[in-house]
Amino acid sequence: MNFKKARENMINEQIIKRGIKDERVLNAIADIPRENFVLKQNEKDAYLDCPLPIGMGQTISQPYMVALMTQCLSLGGSEYILEIGTGSGYQTAILSKLTTRVYTVERFKVLSDRAREKFNDLDLKNIETIVGDGSQGLEKYSPYDAIMVTAGAEQIPKKLIEQLKENGKIIIPVGSSYFQELLLGKKIENKLKVKNYGGCVFVPLVGRYGWVE
Ligand code: SAH
Repeated sequence: MNFKKARENMINEQIIKRGIKDERVLNAIADIPRENFVLKQNEKDAYLDCPLPIGMGQTISQPYMVALMTQCLSLGGSEYILEIGTGSGYQTAILSKLTTRVYTVERFKVLSDRAREKFNDLDLKNIETIVGDGSQGLEKYSPYDAIMVTAGAEQIPKKLIEQLKENGKIIIPVGSSYFQELLLGKKIENKLKVKNYGGCVFVPLVGRYGWVE
């Protein structure tokens, strides 16, 4: 299997054709081997147009969704980012190529540990992995320039809004536990101005300011 070719096809057919234009985002996606972040038995499916299982009942997001969410944050390269829901670490790796520092929180230690190994393999040094309940954010390094949540919430957790800088952006799927809308919020004068990017399906954000287990 020629992964490089599969990656090029994915970028052209699934991502550019659907309207993703940010060159930095496209380059970051071209740089990260998605096959590293799926289960060994799914390697050949790594570039399909869908999410895939990664263990613990969780999934790696569809490539287009990763591209769309990343583009929404319009990263310039100097941001401090909080990501909630490390999962496979694929989205984290893309973010790490586009900015200064990424703090990524995952509730399952086994997923967090596995993701950290992948970051080491690819020599991505600007990522800090944290195990915990990200629905409460991560007070320690706040406030953040941008927050990305890759699990679905019933509403935008207030702790996350608090931990966002003025003019900072948060991208998060909000809705029921089986269907959400992708919301981009910009914090202006302590309030969020929200734009809706349409329907999506994510695993639930489980935690104090998310769904109950
Ligand atoms: N961006 C990831 C998506 C993983 S799925 C990828 O592409 O691989 C979402 C992840 O969010 C799951 O791993 C799940 O365990 C995690 N999660 C759910 N609720 C969480 C919470 N409150 N804090 C941290 N992680 C959470």
